[in-house]
Order: sequence, then C-alpha cells, then structure tokens
Amino acid sequence: MDNSAGGSVALVFDLGGTWFRSGILDGDRLTDVRQRPAPRRGVDGSDVPQLQRALVRYLVETAEAYRTRHVFDRVGVSLGAAMNGSSGLVLASAPLWGPGRWPLPLAELLTAGAPRFSWAVLNDVSAQAVSLLGEDWPTGSRLAALTVSTGIAYRTIDPVTGHIPLDAVHGLQGEIGHLPARFEWRGAALDLACDCGVANHTSAFASGRGIERILREPLAAELDRYRTVPELAAGCAAGDGPALELLDACTAPLARLLLAQATLDPTVARTVLMGGVVHAFGRLYRESLLRNLDKDPLYLVSAADPGYFGERILISSRPGVEALVGAGLHALRIGD
Ligand SMILES: [Zn+2]
Repeated sequence: MDNSAGGSVALVFDLGGTWFRSGILDGDRLTDVRQRPAPRRGVDGSDVPQLQRALVRYLVETAEAYRTRHVFDRVGVSLGAAMNGSSGLVLASAPLWGPGRWPLPLAELLTAGAPRFSWAVLNDVSAQAVSLLGEDWPTGSRLAALTVSTGIAYRTIDPVTGHIPLDAVHGLQGEIGHLPARFEWRGAALDLACDCGVANHTSAFASGRGIERILREPLAAELDRYRTVPELAAGCAAGDGPALELLDACTAPLARLLLAQATLDPTVARTVLMGGVVHAFGRLYRESLLRNLDKDPLYLVSAADPGYFGERILISSRPGVEALVGAGLHALRIGD
C-alpha cells in the first residue's frame, strides 16, 4: 500500500485479561478508542483453541471496520501473553487461557487473515516498555516497565535504541509474575494458587485477581467490607489503616523482587510502574512499595542514599494507555 497516506498512523490493540481495547495512534495522539470485555475461558464454555480463533477473528474484523473510518496500513497488537520475542510465537497466557502452554503463531495468522495490513505483535509489557521511548531519561542507563494488572511482568529497554534484551533461546525476559513468592498477613503465611496453576507465585498475591482472592480469605473483620481492588483502593485513599496494611502485604512480594533486581542489575536507572492495579491505587501503590523497600533496604546503598528507590521507582505519566501507545510506536518503527 502507498505509505504516503497514513504513514505516521497505526491501528493499535491492547488485549488483556480484562479488556480488549483498540484505537488509532496518530503521532502521539490516541483517537477512536473503543473497548469491550475480554472473553474469558470457561465463562461461555469456550475452550482455548476456540478462544484463540475468536481472537484472530476479532482482530481481523476490527481492523477492517477501522479501515472504513481511518487511513492506515500498520497495525500494532499488544497481547497480555508470554511470547518468544525473537520468533513472535505466543507461548501462554494465564489470564486469557489459564494454565498450560498454548502456542499461537498470531502474526502469521493475522497476515494470512488480512494481508492488506502490516501486523506487528508484541507482548504487553514489551509494548509498555516501548511507550517509554522518546521521554527524557538519564543517559547511559536502561529503563524498566513493571506492569501489575491481571498479570505481572517486568521488562528492561534501552531508551536510545529501543532494544529489549531477551533470552537467546526462549526469547523471554522478566516473567516475574510466575516467580515463587511468600505472602504474610500479621505473621501467618497464606497459600494461594496462581492463574498458571502453581501455588504461591507473585501473581497469586499481587495481581488484581490475586488481591481479590486474598480479600475472600477470612483475614480480619475490618477488611470484610472490601471485595474488589477498586473498593480496597478507595479504603486506602480514605486512610483506612487495615486497607493500607493489606496493600503493603500485597506489594511486599514485588518489593522483594525489586530489591533483588537492583542488586543484580544496577544499570536500570528508572522502573516505571503501570497496569490496572497500580493505577487503581495511584501514588499510594508506589508509596507502599517504597515502605517495603525501607524495611528491607539495599545493602550498603540505602543507608548512604535514603532516596535511592524513591528516585528510581516512578508511576507512569500516561496511565492506562501505555500498551496502546507502545504497540503503535512499535508498528511504526519496524515498518521504517
Ligand atoms: Zn504462576
């Protein structure tokens, strides 16, 4: 297609465990944003192959519908699934498809289904990391996106080249949601299953669904009025002590990971928090992480530099649209 029309315009998708969203990225402006609930495994009796076929159909049909309203040929898709970032093969998605490995050559299927478009598919936290490019960052360092939503993941990126380091064989980096974790409430450990089917992963306690599972446990009478993340966030915003105590318990597994990350890779100068859970709590989420990092400080650093983590851990300045923007920037960059 003639690229002179729509050369800086891309159709963008953000497909997560809760919402499927679409929009048009024109320069750095998002327009015509639409969303619908994500189809859930088991809710309407669909099995995973049916959900995957429906995903491809949804993308192709939505792209054709947008093409009647906008001029574009590039399409960027951010998918809430673990992917081999080198080959593009989608590997698994605990939030979308539950436990197990469900390989899906999504870009190939989309190209076959709608060859008029140039499709670029990337993992959601990679898209969120790409959305950080173009801002003013410390030179000579790397950035990281940490997303906390239905799932949890962490990804580093070079702010100059946009390079995302990946495992040379498996094409992965930063799937921290599925690292072993320990959750404690008032001195007692709690065991909970992760969406991937394994007990006591970070996501089992710190993801949106994890927090809501914890709220169903008989923790304390004063927490009975909270059933959802938005309700708990409202309690925290109102200064409710037990709500803030629970938030700290839920961010503690992530604080421990950030402590290990800072120890192992000090070249990451900024970690930017994003995702539905982070944005539900807002600044209180970051403050909770920092409280936990005060309790377990970085050896030989925190005592000498008490503001170390406060300077390095930030909240995204584009709440909720990072994956859409990053998917579009990626689609436009790789086409050039
Ligand atoms: Zn897991």
